[in-house]
Amino acid sequence: MTNSVPITLHAQWMGRLTYEGDLLGELTAVAAEHSVTLGRVEAIGAVKSARISYYDQGAHEYRFKRFDMPLEIVSLIGNVSIKGGEPMVHAHVALADEEGEVYGGHLAEGCIVFACEFVLTAFNGPTLERTDDEPTGLPLWAL
Ligand code: ZN
Repeated sequence: MTNSVPITLHAQWMGRLTYEGDLLGELTAVAAEHSVTLGRVEAIGAVKSARISYYDQGAHEYRFKRFDMPLEIVSLIGNVSIKGGEPMVHAHVALADEEGEVYGGHLAEGCIVFACEFVLTAFNGPTLERTDDEPTGLPLWAL
């Protein structure tokens, strides 16, 4: 049996992010602006530079990687839930360089938007609050 809860569609928004805005910060601001506390986000576009991370499962630490070059946002997908009483966007992203080589990972602050089109979906459902999870060291949903 899996830990899951029922959700239904509440509302959706489409839009684009601000030039040179912070990708994660802008997505979080859009979620907060529409009071989305349970949702899904997807986006495509391009960044001027990027910062993503990889979670070291043994050390329980994120390892950050910077890319100081333009990259395509091939795919960004994530969710919105609550952490510390505030909406939190958790997203993963695949970024391609001019050769089509793709780098991917956990979306971190520090990705600078060149252009980005997003779809934000809000669900009706229970509150999913992130709390510290013992075996992983990650802030996971208390289900
Ligand atoms: Zn992640």
